Amino acid sequence: MTLEHCDLLIVGAGPAGMAAAVAAAPSGASIVVIDDNPAPGGQIWRDGPGATLPPAARKWRDALERHANIRVRSGTRVVAAPSRNQLLLEDAERGWRLQWNRLILCTGARELLLPFPGWTLPGVTGAGGLQALIKAGLPVEGERVVIAGSGPLLLAAAATARAAGAKVVRIAEQASFAAVAGFAASLPRWPGKAVQAITLADAQYRTSSRIVSVQGATQVESVRLRQGGREVEIESDRVACGFGLVPNTQLGRMLGCALTPEGIGAQALAVDARQATSLADIYAAGECTGFGGSERALAQGTIAGHAAVGNEGAAKQHERERARWNAFAAQLGRSFALAPAIRQMPQPDTVVCRCEDVPFSALADCSGWTDAKLHRRCGMGACQGRVCGDAAQFLFGWTPPAPRPPLSPARIATLAGLAGPVDVDRQ
Ligand SMILES: Cc1cc2nc3c(=O)[nH]c(=O)nc-3n(C[C@H](O)[C@H](O)[C@H](O)COP(=O)(O)OP(=O)(O)OC[C@H]3O[C@@H](n4cnc5c(N)ncnc54)[C@H](O)[C@@H]3O)c2cc1C
Repeated sequence: MTLEHCDLLIVGAGPAGMAAAVAAAPSGASIVVIDDNPAPGGQIWRDGPGATLPPAARKWRDALERHANIRVRSGTRVVAAPSRNQLLLEDAERGWRLQWNRLILCTGARELLLPFPGWTLPGVTGAGGLQALIKAGLPVEGERVVIAGSGPLLLAAAATARAAGAKVVRIAEQASFAAVAGFAASLPRWPGKAVQAITLADAQYRTSSRIVSVQGATQVESVRLRQGGREVEIESDRVACGFGLVPNTQLGRMLGCALTPEGIGAQALAVDARQATSLADIYAAGECTGFGGSERALAQGTIAGHAAVGNEGAAKQHERERARWNAFAAQLGRSFALAPAIRQMPQPDTVVCRCEDVPFSALADCSGWTDAKLHRRCGMGACQGRVCGDAAQFLFGWTPPAPRPPLSPARIATLAGLAGPVDVDRQ
């Protein structure tokens, strides 16, 4: 197995990872950026046959290409951390080890998927999941789509669906009118966001609305929503749900990075003013440190990139920008906090762990995640708790323990590289 070296390794090529690499590049350091997606861009600038990349995405991609000391490895996953400064990686062809002097984690966030009656029917996806499917080429022309959950991602998903020819028949936001109006009133502090909000405004948008159930024989046929005090049923072909984002902390946790304290929403990787984590030489930026949008991810990534190559002065110059977007993130968190009623969506027979068919009622008397795994097989299936773990954390307050390697499914030959000799490749 080959052992490669780099001065700076960046995991994740979303806005945070791209900005970190571009900020660090003038130092001359050898930089490697890896990402499990086929092209740089992360969640917001996901490429595909059904995607039209905005100019900002092109700008950052071009910037990555301009620097000869940045090597981008797309389609590459992290499998394990064989030693303190090494990661075991795998792409479609091979597995290899990569030794780094500094590491920046820019692993982003994923959607919080929550169970409700009918959520396993074909046609139900995440809100961002629907966007990703459309960008990958899923035809939705003429389909009726209901989008439900919370936060601005619902409007972004609606815009993507509509641009692809779907008919968005309802956007159900669980936050109250007062909360959403308060958010809208705060937007002039971030003028770009105010303009974006106007362009995304939608006549089908309803506040204080949450999903009750999805009906259908073999796929989605209708959606029952609670809108204020009454229930309505809407005919639909697809349902896309987004209940907010969960920071992707698995790699950071596997390495031993500390998390932010509980009680302030989803736990995220803890960082200081330089974006340094609790571990020496490991930094983190973007939504793995808490959600807050691409502008915050870009500011944090820039600071992390400068700090990781010792350019503290340049890093400091971006602190004000970061503070501005941190304030936006805090406003988002306050305005779209999930109401306690969302915890009541699952019924006793609603499946929570869809890999192992574990219903909500089977989990109600478990003392925690390990108990649920050992005695109810929750999280023991193919996804290894990636979906139901977050749901259980939200529904029951359980915190899953730090993940163990392999971090993602891997080929036997790659895993064998953990034991075998290495050929040193100094690039
Ligand atoms: C599904 C989804 C859709 C979204 N759509 C929008 C939208 O339309 N508009 C909007 O304003 N915001 C959207 N967001 C929010 C958006 O994620 C952020 O604003 C922004 O993309 C965050 O940038 P980031 O660099 O922190 O993370 P991301 O953009 O999430 O990038 C992280 C990257 O790291 C990669 N990665 C993670 N772990 C590993 C690993 N172990 N090995 C290799 N690669 C790894 C991921 O594949 C990803 O490409 C979306 C979020 C999600 C989860």
